[in-house]
Parts: sequence; structure tokens; C-alpha cells
Amino acid sequence: MKPHTDTDKLLAEVESARDEIIDFAAELVRIPTVNPPGDAYRDASRFIGTRLEALEFEVDYPTASDMPEHSKEHPRVNVVGIKRGAADRPLVHLNGHIDVVPPGTGWTVDPFAGIVRDGKLFGRGSCDMKAGIAAAVYAAESIRRAGIALHGTIEISGTVDEESGGFAGVAFLCEEGRISRDRTDYVIIPEPLNVDRICIGHRGVYWFKVTAHGRIAHGSMPFLGESAIEHMGALLEAVRRDLTPALQARTTSTPVVPEGARHATLNVNAILGGQAGQEPQSPCVADRCEAIFDRRFLREEGFDEAKQEIESLLASIGNGGRYELEDLMVVHPVETPSDSPVISALDDAIRSVLGKPAERIASPGTYDHKHVARIAGVEHCVAYGPGILELAHQVDEYCLVEDLVNATKVLALAIVDLVGERA
Ligand SMILES: [Zn+2]
Repeated sequence: MKPHTDTDKLLAEVESARDEIIDFAAELVRIPTVNPPGDAYRDASRFIGTRLEALEFEVDYPTASDMPEHSKEHPRVNVVGIKRGAADRPLVHLNGHIDVVPPGTGWTVDPFAGIVRDGKLFGRGSCDMKAGIAAAVYAAESIRRAGIALHGTIEISGTVDEESGGFAGVAFLCEEGRISRDRTDYVIIPEPLNVDRICIGHRGVYWFKVTAHGRIAHGSMPFLGESAIEHMGALLEAVRRDLTPALQARTTSTPVVPEGARHATLNVNAILGGQAGQEPQSPCVADRCEAIFDRRFLREEGFDEAKQEIESLLASIGNGGRYELEDLMVVHPVETPSDSPVISALDDAIRSVLGKPAERIASPGTYDHKHVARIAGVEHCVAYGPGILELAHQVDEYCLVEDLVNATKVLALAIVDLVGERA
């Protein structure tokens, strides 16, 4: 951003749009886009698209009709709006997911009423991440109202299914080439990561299943069989004794928060053992036991090393094909280059708006960044948006109105920095 008068004008425009921004976010909260199963996606996409059109975006609704998640009852309708400036590039794409996790019980307010009270917008999805979508839309609109011309292009999307992997949402837009290194320079995902923090990526994920095999026998004479559950017990013991301390000792240089997630970790997600193909209760020695594991690996480790380690552990305790390993999902770690223009634009903007330096963090879990990096090949991607990370998915979720307005200001300044008129 060059002349100071522009900055002042832009921030003043965001300030005077305050009520519109809050209303837009509250309206979005009132559309119950619960996933699973993926309710009201079309309504939410239309609501965002109609607003974008009113704000002079060209809008369309890429629908993932060939994906298994899509159905007539629960169509996977995404929305993309584009506003071209003097040139197609540079192009900054702001992406928010429209789906929310089910509210659960224990709320003291209606989770879908979009109540604004005591400076807070309450509701499921208020923080994760409908406030973020509102911030993106009104950041772009405030630039127009301030009369600042665009040198490049702004694109805003609302996408489905982030909470279940994002395959019919951001991954679909990337597969279709809508987000692609051939047209997209920067991606900002306004997830709730606190208004003064820039999120530059996440650790890797390796979900795998181990099946332990035994030999069936009558439950009254277990000595005639071989228990698959005991074999699984041996594996869990080896994990506890050898693997867990080794993982805990590894620390990544990626600034993952909270601190405990800066190490490699392994969680046992589920375990099921018994007679193969039968109900858990059976009068037999268990000949099959399955466990599902969630290994979060560090950039410094890499996937091959993480998998190799599991294979060696299995080999060290098993013999004769006692254990079988199956990969369920692999997400590689992502990290935005530290000299990325999108980081410095947000850095400067946070300093201007909040008067303090931004903190760079990485997320403990994965989010749509993975698709942008891996499928679209766009390396300049970060998450930055309003809302407190710890409130996401909680009972009585809320977003501070002040955070929403401040994040809109930060995004507006950053967008002008990236694609605004050249001095
Ligand atoms: Zn989210």
C-alpha cells in the first residue's frame, strides 16, 4: 500500500461497513450447513454468491456432482466469485469453507440463531469459519468503496466439506484448475487462528490400520489357539515402550501450536478384536484384531521414514505374517516459504491495524492448505482470519465482533498490497 491517504480511506470504509459485515456473518450462521451430512450447502453458496454479485463479482457455482459425497439431497455446491482488475495476475484467492460440524448438546444459545450480544457473534460456525468468509467479502468490497483500483485480480470462494477432508470442496476446485499455479498467485484461507497470527502450514498425517492375525479355538481351551488381541497388546506395549518416547524426542522447526504438537505424535484412534466376521461377543479365541492409528509426522521426518519405522516395529515383535499394515490416508506436511509475499503483506497489515508484530504459527491439524499446495501447486498459501482457534467446534462458539472487523481491515490492506494499484 503506497499513499497513506489510501490506507486511511480503506480502514475508514471497513469501519463504516461494520454493521453490514456483522449482519452478513450472522446471516451465514443462520444457514445450518451441518457436515455430516452436508446440509444446506446450496443455500449458503447462493447466499454468498448473491452478495458477491451485488458487489460486482462474476459468480459461478462449481458443483462436485461426480464425487461420491454428492447426492440430490445433499449437493456439493461451491461458489466462486472473481473480480478482475487491470490484469488477470497477480491473482489472490480467498477461500473459506461453508460447512460446520454438528452443534452437539449443551448450548446456552440457539446454535443457528446468529445472535449478536456483548460484542460477540454466537453460533455454530461463527468462528469456524463464517466470520472469516464475511471478512474476505467485505475486505474486497471496502477496497472498491475506497476507490482503490486493482492492478491484479481478487477471487473469493466458499467451499464444502472441509470438515470431512475437503475433497468435493477445495480439492475439487484445485483438480478442476480453478485454483492452480497457472492462474493463482496467492491463497489466503481465513480460518480462525487468532487475529494476530499467520498460519504457515501443518504437520503430516499418516493414518494406518494394523491387523493382527491369530488362530481360532474354543474359548474354553484358549491354549489351543493364538489370540490376535494378545498380539495387538504386544504391539501397543512396544509402541508405549519404544516408539512414543522416540517420537516425543523429535521436535520440528515448524512453529506448530500448541507447544505439545511441535513433536511427532501417535494416537490409537480405534481398536476392534474378536472372531473375524462376527459380533465382538463370540465363544472363541480372537483370530483377528484391528487397530487404527493416527501418526502426525514432522517435515524433518517425512512420510517414508515414518512408515518405515512402523514396519520395523512390527517386524521386531511379529513373525510369520502376524501383523498386516495398511495405509488409510497420507497428507504430507506443508509450509509456506518464509519469504513469501503473502506472509509479508499480512505481516505489514497486522502491524498497521493492531500495532504489534504478527506471530507465525503452524496448525496442529491439517486444513485445506494441503490441497492448495499439493494439487494446485500454489506455494504462497497461508491461513489468516478472525476468531479464536480454541473456540472452534466448541459449545457456545462465538467470534468477537472486534476480531471480525480487525481481520477485515488486515485482509483489505494485505489484498491491496498484493494486487492493488501500483504507485
Ligand atoms: Zn475451519
